[in-house]
Amino acid sequence: MKPIGAALAVALPFANPVLAEGFTVSPPIDCDLTSDCYIQQYVDSDPSPNASDFTCSSLSYDGHKGTDFALPNRARINDNVGVLASAAGKVKSLRDGMVDAPYSNARATEIAGRECGNGVVVDHGDGWETQYCHMKQGSINVTRGQDVQRGQMLGFVGQSGKAAFPHVHLSVRRAGKVVDPFDPDGITRCDSPGDSNLWTQRPAYQPGGLIEIGISSAVPAYDDIKAGLTPKSSLPAASPALVVWGFLYGTQAGDIINLSITGPEGMIIADDVTLTKTQAQAFRAIGKKTRTGWSTGAYSATVTMIRGPQVISQRSTDIVIE
Ligand SMILES: [Zn+2]
Repeated sequence: MKPIGAALAVALPFANPVLAEGFTVSPPIDCDLTSDCYIQQYVDSDPSPNASDFTCSSLSYDGHKGTDFALPNRARINDNVGVLASAAGKVKSLRDGMVDAPYSNARATEIAGRECGNGVVVDHGDGWETQYCHMKQGSINVTRGQDVQRGQMLGFVGQSGKAAFPHVHLSVRRAGKVVDPFDPDGITRCDSPGDSNLWTQRPAYQPGGLIEIGISSAVPAYDDIKAGLTPKSSLPAASPALVVWGFLYGTQAGDIINLSITGPEGMIIADDVTLTKTQAQAFRAIGKKTRTGWSTGAYSATVTMIRGPQVISQRSTDIVIE
């Protein structure tokens, strides 16, 4: 009898080979991916209704066709962070004029058919094209038919179209088919992710992390954190409470978040919070109240994100109580 199952398993990886043939891409955002921006979502490599990034982890969602390079908060849109052409080519199409605003289901009709928001498509020849989405309203500074170089600025990062957070979505396509620049052959291998890729320099895979942390005198509103709180350098000694908060991405059920504050007289508070959900973004805070006020001096807070035996991300911040 013919082993149909085995034959199919061997045949599938070669059914639709995508050969890079020298085509390479560079990051489409003008920021430091190790400190002031990060990759929130990758291409969904799972054809089922579930989602998986190229490492077989959770940084994707069902049907996601690109890579999302994110800014830590909406206030950073005002800094005019550049969206950069990932390779040389010719501007094939563009759209501008859509407002930058957080997406919600209430805006679905308004945005239908224009989910990319303000965007640019660049044709690189030989069937390759790249698309840049969710750009800042009024920022696109190239025209249709214009030749662009790798790294040339196309406009600024924004939050137009269907975007829950400020970012540039980069789609890479060949002959109209989505190509994951982290896994161009389309064969997800959990044991050696990214064994081939399209990057001039492959961005390091970060399996989640801390987007921002802060110290405040009360638990901040989650929307204020997403909007971008201006960090305080001092708090009054009469503050009713001291709170440390962490804004996270790529959380998984079982992750442990350790939050702590130390002051002139030592540890004020330290606690572990165990996360129960796998989420794109999350926010946690712990605090301590006082009736008598705080000692004046230097305070520092640390937030650590732990997954199994591994510290995934850690950040500290300082404040003066006066
Ligand atoms: Zn996206």
